[in-house]
Amino acid sequence: AHLTIEGRSLVNLGSNNYLGLAEHPRVKAAAEAAIERDGVGAGASRLLTGHRSEHEKLEAAIARLKGTESALVFSSGYLANIGVIPALVGRGDVIFADRDDHASLIEGCRASGARLRVYRRDRLDRLQALLAQRQRLRSSAILIVTESVFSMEGDLAPLPDLVDLAERYGASVMVDDAHATGVLGTRGSGSSEHWNLQDRPIIQMGTLSKALGALGGFVAGPKILIDHLINRAKSFIYTTALPAAIAAAALEAIRVVEDDPEPRRRLWANRRFWHDGVRALGFDTFNSASPIIPLRIGSDALAVDMASALAAEGVYAPAIRPPTVPAGSARIRTSILATHTVEDLALALSAVERVGKRLGLV
Ligand code: PMP
Repeated sequence: AHLTIEGRSLVNLGSNNYLGLAEHPRVKAAAEAAIERDGVGAGASRLLTGHRSEHEKLEAAIARLKGTESALVFSSGYLANIGVIPALVGRGDVIFADRDDHASLIEGCRASGARLRVYRRDRLDRLQALLAQRQRLRSSAILIVTESVFSMEGDLAPLPDLVDLAERYGASVMVDDAHATGVLGTRGSGSSEHWNLQDRPIIQMGTLSKALGALGGFVAGPKILIDHLINRAKSFIYTTALPAAIAAAALEAIRVVEDDPEPRRRLWANRRFWHDGVRALGFDTFNSASPIIPLRIGSDALAVDMASALAAEGVYAPAIRPPTVPAGSARIRTSILATHTVEDLALALSAVERVGKRLGLV
């Protein structure tokens, strides 16, 4: 919840460690014990000698958390996305991607060779029209790719509508739960639980690097999908396995998520406090419905000025500018953690108010 820059402590509004599990005693102890047992690096890829029992236990825990038959762990979320999409679709197929999809999803789409069409989630009527056209052509597999919690906007994808459209037009849906795993749903399972879509066929991707406090990516789904990925996803096959210590840490983090709803409750209580506070000051928070709450600034220069003025006031909140976000929509991205105290958030809120007024933003 805090970081130190050149000896000064700042309230950290720029972390994805939503539940504080990166420094949870049980998670650290699991990593330490695995390092003692197994050393640091895995030494080879999973398909050679890098495979450890920790990977299997972790994959079983992910499948349990996500309510799927099976799961596969990659060495990062980025690697999962660039490997999974080309393993599912290729030339002659078509992908519909949300215009705000993460760079790793877009890289995966490009690497696949499939035709890429971009849609807006606030205009699903247009997506539907495109899907209807594709169906008439009957030429290809169709994949709809979306984040569940958009990483720079903090809003939620209209997943029930996307899944309905996919079913109607014979498409598949892949959802990136990077910012939803451990965060959304009563059990912290993610977007499928949040939207009550557990029984629908969704390819669920996620990361171990955010709410789970470790590192790595995963895909959860039916065993036939996982077997296919083991054989086809190049970013699984040709890279060194996740270290056993990291797999053990992520496994313990999932157990904490399953055993203890309290960090999630604190996360959402903090999120409500912060969202209400910045909205009351007059900031436009896009359509945030998650612990990611961006403050719309518009001009790139003003966003940078705001970030440096906040840092001078003891608050770290990054300015996000094009090309990460569309031109003219620069923002201060704040992300709220379970480990922020009321004092942290009150200090940050009064800094945002002072700086916002000084820069004429509110
Ligand atoms: N997808 C989304 C939506 C993300 O925000 C990120 C991380 N920035 C990733 C994928 C990549 O995950 P990782 O950091 O675990 O590689």
